[in-house]
Amino acid sequence: MAGDILVVAEHSDGAVKRPSLEALTCAAGLAGSLGGSVTALVAGPGAADAASACGAHGAAKVLTLDVDVADTNAWAAAVAGVATEASPALVLFSHTARGKDLAPRVAGKLDRPLASDCTELSVDGGAVVARRPVYAGKALVNVSASGTLLATLRPNAVPATENAAAGETSAADVKAPEKGLGAVLAEIVAAASEKIELTEAAVVVSGGRGLKEAANFNLVEDLAAALGGAVGASRAVVDAGWRPHTEQVGQTGKTVSPNLYIAIAISGAIQHLAGMRTSNYIVAINKDPEAPIFKVADYGIVGDAFEVVPRLTEAVKAAAAAG
Ligand SMILES: Cc1cc2nc3c(=O)[nH]c(=O)nc-3n(C[C@H](O)[C@H](O)[C@H](O)COP(=O)(O)OP(=O)(O)OC[C@H]3O[C@@H](n4cnc5c(N)ncnc54)[C@H](O)[C@@H]3O)c2cc1C
Repeated sequence: MAGDILVVAEHSDGAVKRPSLEALTCAAGLAGSLGGSVTALVAGPGAADAASACGAHGAAKVLTLDVDVADTNAWAAAVAGVATEASPALVLFSHTARGKDLAPRVAGKLDRPLASDCTELSVDGGAVVARRPVYAGKALVNVSASGTLLATLRPNAVPATENAAAGETSAADVKAPEKGLGAVLAEIVAAASEKIELTEAAVVVSGGRGLKEAANFNLVEDLAAALGGAVGASRAVVDAGWRPHTEQVGQTGKTVSPNLYIAIAISGAIQHLAGMRTSNYIVAINKDPEAPIFKVADYGIVGDAFEVVPRLTEAVKAAAAAG
């Protein structure tokens, strides 16, 4: 139906990923304005177990797709099949690694426009309006379409809240998937440690070249651990081999949008800002009062990171201990 929304919900053995809960929450709000309802599409092992969380976050229906999620092309064909039948206002994905792989394929199959990495979705005049950053985050554009729009939602752009809906589960009639038309995911290698995924973290603490050498990143790690956050890095640091590329924040790294982003000894080059400027609160620690990072910071500390950061970490630990 014209006001309905399909949300492709990712899960791990039935546990719905937080970015998907955010997408469902966002969709529930939009569907309310459009007079439609939200249907969650889940696939892969444990899909049926994902239904209750999808329902709790606003899905009136949960369709399970009997498809091999390692074959993104087959998964995309199944999603496109459901979308063709449903003719929704919006097909919403999370801007995660899987979502970024899946959404353009579905858009291609449906021959419909895709607005990727959206930071906000709203309804105006009965149409979904997707807001997304362009020019490395220097400007924002609003995208809308007559007919079905596809969008990916940036993690942390919308808080996940419970919004109970029926969550009725049924199996989608999946058409025979196309074979041999694309790469197949062979294996997901779990990270060596229990690190928080950078793009999904509510707190990110990043370090830059001003930390002088790799060993000094313990300052960043300690503060991130005290705050229960993830560690990020500037490209200068990654290029120097101090940190892995998986931690790079910016135009050629990851885009993060946490509630709190702390930039330590990072100058704030435009390419770095492109990956973090939509964070809710930005705290910059830099000894140069003219550093460009202060232009986007909500709070700035002009000082030597080697003095400021250990004191900040101690203060965070003391506050946590005091409850
Ligand atoms: C095509 C392209 C893509 C790029 N993509 C990215 C990207 O994805 N991510 C990214 O980060 N960059 C990217 N860059 C690189 C970017 O332009 C900058 O070179 C880089 O971000 C600089 O990293 P930095 O801030 O750590 O280092 P610097 O620019 O060297 O800044 C170090 C900062 O530390 C401060 N400092 C020094 N000592 C201390 C101290 N003791 N205490 C406190 N502060 C101190 C200094 O005042 C300075 O501001 C890209 C560049 C290009 C051309």
